[in-house]
Amino acid sequence: MSPNSAPNRRSFLARSAAIMAVPAVATLAGGALAAPASADTLPDYAPIPPSALGPAVNAQGYFVGRVEKNLYWVTDSAYQAAFLTTRDGVVLFDAPPSIGHNLQRAIDQIAAENGVPNKVTHLVYSHHHADHIGGSSLFGTDVVRIGQVQAKQLLASENDPARPVPDVTFETKYTLNVGGERVNLAWHGTNHTPDNSYIHFPGHDTLMLVDIFLPRWVPFDSFNLNEDVPGAIAAPDTAMAYPWKHFIGGHIGRLGTRADMAVYQQYVNDIIDGVQKALGTVDPTPFFVKYGNNVWAASQQYLAAVVAYASGPVIKKYLGVLAAADVYTASTTFAILESIRLDLGFGSQVHP
Ligand SMILES: [Zn+2]
Repeated sequence: MSPNSAPNRRSFLARSAAIMAVPAVATLAGGALAAPASADTLPDYAPIPPSALGPAVNAQGYFVGRVEKNLYWVTDSAYQAAFLTTRDGVVLFDAPPSIGHNLQRAIDQIAAENGVPNKVTHLVYSHHHADHIGGSSLFGTDVVRIGQVQAKQLLASENDPARPVPDVTFETKYTLNVGGERVNLAWHGTNHTPDNSYIHFPGHDTLMLVDIFLPRWVPFDSFNLNEDVPGAIAAPDTAMAYPWKHFIGGHIGRLGTRADMAVYQQYVNDIIDGVQKALGTVDPTPFFVKYGNNVWAASQQYLAAVVAYASGPVIKKYLGVLAAADVYTASTTFAILESIRLDLGFGSQVHP
């Protein structure tokens, strides 16, 4: 497909929308982006491995495909949602605003092909974040919304009309039965957010867990902005304890396999090993000698040196294996480094 074709332009715009908040923040900070960017001077990164890319989107900017049997997934190449068709209506899992009205278009298309109802009767929230459920209000009031109890609390305080609070909540477990289909929702502790839920489709060999593991890609900036880093590091083990063949991660244009998740777990373990090695190797003395009473400058430069030491070999190992290893490995290493120091107390010393 040529770079100028409509679908590519649309999906490019959708991706741009997802990152629109970033320049505003950089401008406020008075950074380099205060001057308009020029494509000629922006840095180059390694090419994305073809295996990390999913199917092309259609003229409307979406792709819809079968996961297994009557379970389908929809993507705009940046975000993902899923839906189950049943004899009594459709159960939708997440409603990313970037896919927006294409969610119903995708459902209409599949329902027409299979002669089943196209009305969304239930909408399950993976977690409260606007980028995954900000299209919820498009489905009106005549739909049963289901989410973890903390999703309801967070959404009530965030008070965003685009994200109505769930009607049905659960604390640790909920079984959803619709039109002869069964879906198991579970909460196994905080990870990416306090409310992030495991969505298991026992009849479809599939697990949906959003913003933890993004198949064939490194995590988004700063380890997916995970609120609980140890919880997010532990989540893939919990995910692997479920029986599944297909994985829906909520991002990027492809599904995952168990082998993909094992590669991701090794990547995170390699970062942890690198951080522990770096903390025992990089000498903080010169940084504090140089910056004296400016302890922030000393800390910044010392931790940057730790990150560089720890992430360098990981970037080298995963280039060509995980997409964008050279883009975000350093910021994820910083997030994991701070968790190892602050949550685990590694390298912490009591003054004699
Ligand atoms: Zn999120």
